[in-house]
Amino acid sequence: MATRRPILLKEIYEARRRIAGTARRTPLMPAPRLEAESGRQVRLKLETLQDTGAFKVRGAANAILSLDDAARRRGVVTYSTGNHGRAVAHVAGLAGVPATVCVSEQVTPGKIAALEASGCRLSIEGRSQDEAAARAARLAAADGLTAIDPINDRAVVAGHGTAGLELIEDWPEVDTVVVPVSGGALISGVALAVKSARPRCRVVGVSMARGAAMYESLKAGRPVVVDEVASLADSLQGGILLDNRYSFAMVGEMVDELVLVSEDEIAHAMAHAYWHERLILEGAAATPIAALLFRDPASFGDAVALVLTGNAVDGAVLADIASRYRDAVAGAAPAAVRGAA
Ligand SMILES: *Cc1c(COP(=O)(O)O)cnc(C)c1O
Repeated sequence: MATRRPILLKEIYEARRRIAGTARRTPLMPAPRLEAESGRQVRLKLETLQDTGAFKVRGAANAILSLDDAARRRGVVTYSTGNHGRAVAHVAGLAGVPATVCVSEQVTPGKIAALEASGCRLSIEGRSQDEAAARAARLAAADGLTAIDPINDRAVVAGHGTAGLELIEDWPEVDTVVVPVSGGALISGVALAVKSARPRCRVVGVSMARGAAMYESLKAGRPVVVDEVASLADSLQGGILLDNRYSFAMVGEMVDELVLVSEDEIAHAMAHAYWHERLILEGAAATPIAALLFRDPASFGDAVALVLTGNAVDGAVLADIASRYRDAVAGAAPAAVRGAA
């Protein structure tokens, strides 16, 4: 973390070799109903099929498997609203590396249970992601642990970028890649991989309308702190770090557009995935579907890939949304979409 030199495509290729036995090459699936509703070709990159149910295992594997033997013996520490911590715990478990995960008290019970099951040391304290981050940094300094930051770690960004390599290899004709954005590590790696192969492919980020840290930071021209507001897209909550090293600059340079979606649109997209794509998606992962359904589909070009990032949703929450939005997703496509199709 001592250097801010730009992350190179080469590091994504190295990551791919390093994580090959740990993270899965995920499929890119057609989505007929979304194609009918949007009038575009649509494919879904199913990161929900990774162990732990989210793409975060890519970055965690690259970071942990890069460590030398001494660092592995001392162990790793991280902070997370859930999926990153779970991925670090999972990969550390596979590699025989001790792991400590710091989370805030806002984290959902389902995510806590999953972390506890992974066998890591868990530290639950504080009201925000920032407090959890500060605690992880203290533990790293005090115990000589290697901190694996979900945002400011170049091995994490490069590891996530392997999803972009796979995508562009599987579908070189893609016009637009749509990616959920929180701290921006995923979209940074994906944009680097995709734009290196296809400079004219658009990369679009999606966040929830309230508390979108990357969106507000780009608007301000520097990383800013946002209030954490409850959202169905809980994996998109949290800041981008005031000393952001990579993702703020990479998103500013390579991401063509950031789209915001409402809670109602996220719920609709989760129900759509459940009833029509037969997929269990958490709110964050449904945001690309919400963007495609509720923003002008023509702005996505003819061929659209949606990166569906994770499935960590409470079963009761999803069941409630699926039943409340059943009629809404069963009917005809939204008017704006019909017009464009
Ligand atoms: C972490 C996460 C994101 C956002 O990734 P960033 O790299 O923080 O932008 C999106 N979806 C899910 C399911 C996540 O766990």
